[in-house]
Amino acid sequence: MTNSRIAPWASPRAQRRLAEVEAAVSADLSAAGVADTVGKALAAHAAQVDDDGIVLYAGTNVLSPAAAAANLSSVSSRPSMGWPGEKYQVGLEHLDTLEVLAPLLVAELMEGSHAEVRLQSATLANLAVYTAFARPGDKIAVLPEAAGGHASHHPQGVPAVRGLTVVDLPYDPRRLDLDYPGLPGFLRVHRPRIVVIGASMMLFPHDVATVRAACDEVGAILLYDASHMAGLVAGRVFQRPLHEGAHVLTFSTYKSFGGPSGGCVVTRDPELAERVSTVAYPGMLANYDAGRLGALAVTAAELAERGPSYAAACLANARALAASLHDEGFRVAGRDGEFTRSHHIAVDALALGGGDAAGLRLGEAGVYLSGIGLPWQRADEGLRGLRIGTQEITRRGFTPQDQPAIASLMRRALLDGEPPHRVRADAVALRREVNRRTL
Ligand SMILES: *Cc1c(COP(=O)(O)O)cnc(C)c1O
Repeated sequence: MTNSRIAPWASPRAQRRLAEVEAAVSADLSAAGVADTVGKALAAHAAQVDDDGIVLYAGTNVLSPAAAAANLSSVSSRPSMGWPGEKYQVGLEHLDTLEVLAPLLVAELMEGSHAEVRLQSATLANLAVYTAFARPGDKIAVLPEAAGGHASHHPQGVPAVRGLTVVDLPYDPRRLDLDYPGLPGFLRVHRPRIVVIGASMMLFPHDVATVRAACDEVGAILLYDASHMAGLVAGRVFQRPLHEGAHVLTFSTYKSFGGPSGGCVVTRDPELAERVSTVAYPGMLANYDAGRLGALAVTAAELAERGPSYAAACLANARALAASLHDEGFRVAGRDGEFTRSHHIAVDALALGGGDAAGLRLGEAGVYLSGIGLPWQRADEGLRGLRIGTQEITRRGFTPQDQPAIASLMRRALLDGEPPHRVRADAVALRREVNRRTL
């Protein structure tokens, strides 16, 4: 096997792919050659995924035309440091407009009073919250990984950067939610500085008020990570974390929220906001990317107007797709006869060779999604589930009437064992039919 020069320490699977691409791109490394290679890769990607893909990956989205128009790379290459009015650089006063609009609109939309919008990802937003409210050696309590707890909550991620100890909150796999009766006793034993709820897969809302009451008993800060749920929170469906009692809300701006890449921190408490803001700048940032902020402001303003109908449409598509998948013979997760109250769906893929293998096969069939851990799985089962999100297909114009066709593509690729390229032709045809209908 050839070793990758980029990451000789990566897994054998990753090294094989890295070495393959390294060989392919090395033919012409002149400036013109590289520009050509990059241009072709971007065009092929856009054709495959943006134009023809059925994208069910839960952590992605597509910018609205107005947000895309506001997303200027020429602004991203202008360093911008400090608050408007006291910027280190001179001549950026027109950009102050974006820097004021984005936090104002995001705070209002998410039912907070203050928003920190300058961090480049939700991982960094979580690190800012950890840094603001916990010291090295302190403990935080988070959702188990198999219950959707994110890497940025766990010891392999940013809690280690802050030197924090991480414990898993008690969880009830059958309810697909926290073990609420066990929570107060657990928090009294562990006394975490921060309790993190909200996950990378959420079929049902948390009982935020109950968690907040248990946090208050031990003086913990309650962080709700709405990375995946932010678009629904903006649309006032699913749940309203700050209204229900979370001290702080973090989220990714590019998942269900549908904005440019980035992370936000929102709160109703000016003291908490000041601590997070001071960690963000000048703690974690010097110059920040003002190029994202215009698109973020436009996205937030659009969600304020159209968020409720967008969120309701995401939910309707998820309910319809979950029911169709169940009818096709998939094992769809749920509780009390209900598959989901969000835009997420989880399918148990153990009998399909696991979530990773099933996801790869679907990718060859032109349907893009990912594996996910399931709360009832064993550690040696890899990612046992498939996670689906309906946010992108909703924005692309798919309706509940289109969901049986998607479920049938998935059945053919995964249950019937049909060759993926044959399924792919029909996946592309379905996507083009929806494109034509929505133009
Ligand atoms: C995706 C995700 C994140 C990380 O978001 P990035 O913006 O990619 O850093 C954090 N928390 C949860 C729960 C997520 O699902």
